[in-house]
Amino acid sequence: MRNKATKGLIMAMLITLAACAAQEAASWAVHDRNRPAPPVVTPGAESRLPPSDAVVLFDGTGLAAWQSAKDGSDARWKVENGYMEATSKAGDIQTRQAFGSCQLHIEWASPEVVAGSDQGRGNSGVFLMDKYEVQVLDCYENVTYADGQTAAIYGQKPPLVNVCRKPGQWQTYDIIFHAPKFDGQTVVRPATITVLHNGVLVQDHWEIQGTTLHKTPARYEPHAGTLPLRLQDHGNPVRFRNIWIRPLADEPN
Ligand code: MG
Repeated sequence: MRNKATKGLIMAMLITLAACAAQEAASWAVHDRNRPAPPVVTPGAESRLPPSDAVVLFDGTGLAAWQSAKDGSDARWKVENGYMEATSKAGDIQTRQAFGSCQLHIEWASPEVVAGSDQGRGNSGVFLMDKYEVQVLDCYENVTYADGQTAAIYGQKPPLVNVCRKPGQWQTYDIIFHAPKFDGQTVVRPATITVLHNGVLVQDHWEIQGTTLHKTPARYEPHAGTLPLRLQDHGNPVRFRNIWIRPLADEPN
């Protein structure tokens, strides 16, 4: 009996020692010159312009990177003067390429001539992985429900502040998104999202509660791999320009 207990203790010590050794091997000394240097990336001429390792999704010249979300046909939004514009009844559009965790830069402008109110005023949306909507809406002196206003995670989380510019002016979203992880039907790790609206933090590494739904509490619908980025046609002529994305590792690092 005593022999068995001693053996068990030795095994536990060996396992602990092995774990410590593995941890040490994975860590680096302070200022260790053998530590691999990060890749070199050339920044855009202005910080809003795509760096050298970005996938450019729209540079103002055409919709080659986009297709109809409904049937995969060519995207039918209007392109002119360096922007694309949601065209009523043309439907949502989505990227031909699929993405998961990412850094996204996108610029948008609600119509200069104000029409409608509440959710009917400059409504569009940026759907990460086709499922998780960052709301686009003209909330400059426009009242609507908090979890549906500009930069809300629609139906889930209002933004920290309302930092909307006036109608017609260009606005920016910079988004860091980490995809959720599933084991079968179980959520192992929810998606997380950070959003800067016009350079101001409005979503702070928030855990998304599930797929965006209308008038229904969000819930996850498990998915695997990557999915397209989608832009919403909500019947309002919202414009977009300068869209680029950098795929990220699933684990924040
Ligand atoms: Mg919307």
